[in-house]
Amino acid sequence: MTEYEPVIGLEVHAELLTESKMFCGCPVVDSTSAPPNTAVCPVCLGMPGVLPVINQKAVEFAIMVGLALNCEIPEENQFARKSYFYPDLPKGYQISQYDLPLAVNGHVDIDLPDGSTKRIHVRRAHLEEDTGKSTHMSDGSSLIDLNRAGVPLLEIVSEPEIRSAEEAEAYARKLRSIMQYLGVNTGDMSKGVLRLEANVSVRPKGSAELRTRTEVKNLNSIRSLTRATDYEIERQSKVYDKGGQVLQQTMGWDENKQKTVPQRSKESAHDYRYFPEPDLPVLKISREWIEEIRAGMPELPDAKQKRFIEELGLSSYNASVLVADRPVAQYFEEAVSAGGDPTTVANWVIGEIFRLMNKDSLEREAINTIKIRPTQLVALIQLIENGTINNNVAKSVLEVMYESGAAPEQIVKDRNLALVSDTDQLREAVIAALNNHPKEVERYIAGEEKLIGFLIGQVMRSMGNKAPAHVVKEILAEELKSRA
Ligand code: ADP
Ligand code: MG
Ligand code: ZN
Repeated sequence: MTEYEPVIGLEVHAELLTESKMFCGCPVVDSTSAPPNTAVCPVCLGMPGVLPVINQKAVEFAIMVGLALNCEIPEENQFARKSYFYPDLPKGYQISQYDLPLAVNGHVDIDLPDGSTKRIHVRRAHLEEDTGKSTHMSDGSSLIDLNRAGVPLLEIVSEPEIRSAEEAEAYARKLRSIMQYLGVNTGDMSKGVLRLEANVSVRPKGSAELRTRTEVKNLNSIRSLTRATDYEIERQSKVYDKGGQVLQQTMGWDENKQKTVPQRSKESAHDYRYFPEPDLPVLKISREWIEEIRAGMPELPDAKQKRFIEELGLSSYNASVLVADRPVAQYFEEAVSAGGDPTTVANWVIGEIFRLMNKDSLEREAINTIKIRPTQLVALIQLIENGTINNNVAKSVLEVMYESGAAPEQIVKDRNLALVSDTDQLREAVIAALNNHPKEVERYIAGEEKLIGFLIGQVMRSMGNKAPAHVVKEILAEELKSRA
């Protein structure tokens, strides 16, 4: 049996968070909530004789992404007409870029689950305008909303260096994270502001050839990306095993059937009749402007991760999880500046807070909407550190904080959860436990030391978990000694 190696290149389309569209003054509106066809004008409706004007903010955002992806920004870039017909494309062509894109030859380093990193090269990133949105109805008719037509779109194209669905996921997450940090895209795939296409082929392991690929669209989440990629790898391998040929096709991911379905035979560049957009000048990007943009860029995930490790002493795993979503990193940093110990805060966020959010199917980036504020998390940690409550009680207090937003001190007070510090009372509980379990005491004294855990457990239970474990341990040791 031939062993196959996947060859994957990703195309990422990101809508840029500008106020107005790419070539006209129409506002960019939320395409899932704004009434259809309300944010339109003669330019984005493709009326004859109107002229496009380039949105400078969109160019600035695109340069920011280009720099963050370590690309070269050529002195000149140029828009080009990409001609095709579809009802959501009123002009009959899309203004895109072709042979002179805005950014070229970049790379990103992705973190893989096994702790290694891999560099994926970015071939190019170019600016274009988004198309409208069509909704196909069950009666066979289709609805067109042109609010999205003309929204600035950045297409980022990787080299075919991705070798598994897992790497594709890490690459997509990294790009998404970088754009969130830059504030140029929310990363909300469910709203379609970030869209992925996977180009997939397989070849015999060890071969260097590039075989025929399929291009998979309709990937509405990162999970769809990994499933669709795995599906295509498997499907194409089977085709070759049977002696068949993979067809160059554009495929769609069918979320219900969990399979890829052919949509059309893939067109080649010459089908689009690209030619330079005659209504727009060649765009010259001054080196001064690039440096100005670079100077204004925020700290990016890689730099933040490095700082979390080197200055705050986090493990590289914890650091990579915390920086992946910008709101999570912000939450963590707020807690640390409120006095929380970095590693303790990291463990509470990644452990308990993510667990509570997961239960409600909340994405990690929704951490800024939960009721537990960073300062309250720090207050909870302080209650553990000063011995008022133990870890187990703290976990249940956190749950109440999550549900109600109440302050931890208040919850501990209202529910009478503070640990018992009265040693007489603790000694009574220890003695009662020893009296109730004479056999275990006997065995412990005879040398079965591991029974100490059982005895501590009995005391803790009788105290409703409100005893400081280290004090219980000390008293228990004394009492056992006196019986030996
Ligand atoms: P197009 O513009 O027609 O989609 P490109 O040559 O720009 O074609 O490539 C698009 C994407 O396909 C890139 O991400 C590239 O890395 C990837 N790609 C190219 N050849 C292959 C291949 N044989 N297998 C998998 N991916 C490929
Ligand atoms: Mg393509
Ligand atoms: Zn318009």
